[in-house]
Amino acid sequence: NRRFVLNKRPTGEPSPDTFRLETTDIPAPAEGQMLLRNHYLSLDPYMRGRLDDRKSYAEPVALNEVMIGGTVSQVVDSRHPDYAKGDWVVTTGGWQDYALSDGALTFPLKTDMGNKSWALGILGMPGFTAWAGLTQIGQPKEGETLVVAAATGPVGSAVGQIGKLLGLRVVGVAGGPEKCAYAMENFGFDACIDHKAADFEEQLAKATPDGIDIYFENVGGRVFDAVLPLLNMGARIPLCGTIATYNNADEPSEGRDRTGLVMAKFLQSRVTVRGYIIFDDFGHLYGDFMSQMSGWVAEGKLHYLEHMTDGLEDAPEALNQVLRGENFGKRVIRITED
Ligand code: NDP
Repeated sequence: NRRFVLNKRPTGEPSPDTFRLETTDIPAPAEGQMLLRNHYLSLDPYMRGRLDDRKSYAEPVALNEVMIGGTVSQVVDSRHPDYAKGDWVVTTGGWQDYALSDGALTFPLKTDMGNKSWALGILGMPGFTAWAGLTQIGQPKEGETLVVAAATGPVGSAVGQIGKLLGLRVVGVAGGPEKCAYAMENFGFDACIDHKAADFEEQLAKATPDGIDIYFENVGGRVFDAVLPLLNMGARIPLCGTIATYNNADEPSEGRDRTGLVMAKFLQSRVTVRGYIIFDDFGHLYGDFMSQMSGWVAEGKLHYLEHMTDGLEDAPEALNQVLRGENFGKRVIRITED
């Protein structure tokens, strides 16, 4: 059983000594537990926060403990009353080949959804995050303008496509011309602007001639700064993530303190900003999400992009890719074949 444990807390970007690969015996399940074989591992931005020893909405990963992570796994041995050998589950199996589970945070995999790994993306936590943030906080109305960054990732691409289905004008923001072209061709966005372009701010203003009614916040930083003056009266901001700061969460941002300016704009334009943690705040809507989203997927109305590679040993580098914007679609590792 290969497993990555947290070796050393990083400063800035995780480095080669942040994680340590170990080999242990395959554990045996106790009464009430099951042994799982992890097949697909999800790499997500929130993982960076769990490496810091800082108060947050969830406990940090302890040193020398297995790195946490969502997985699609198969039961190989069960002493749990609700699961039998051969069952497939979505769970938090972590960065390892095998995991023991007592059934907490574990759900049976819906087998009619096509690719099993989609349960880590469009039909799982990121898809739910997109759906709930946009519909519950974004309060979309037909004809309004939505801007969403990290537009080719699992959250952003679902936000934008749901926005199109609900009749919004959708402007994506992504890193580089290739990602932007993909978003317009495959996700059907009305425009997609490269946040690395020198004239990004001007391009964004041109692409939103009627201003911005909903800004789905995934990144912060330069994108937020460019969006701020374009917000319309009564704009809504589902505050989902600020990935631009995850590798340097403790450092003050550069330049003059703009907090007063931001607050004044929110006040004058009556902007609603609401942060949320998906399962804590909207867990009760998971069934509604699943039925609507799996319906759209089955009807071919949503396009899903995965960036999958083989091999558990790539997990540390794959996480850094997500934090650097080097992933192209939902970053998943196939630990072993189905
Ligand atoms: P993605 O797969 O989209 O990966 C993150 C992307 O962020 C990168 O590919 C990159 O895209 C972009 N990015 C990274 N750094 C910057 C930067 N400095 N400026 C602009 N863009 C940057 O991730 P997810 O779809 O999984 O997650 C998107 C957001 O949603 C994250 O902030 C995450 O933390 C948040 N989230 C929040 C949840 C909640 O409950 N609140 C639950 C799940 C996710 P590009 O190259 O296009 O810039």
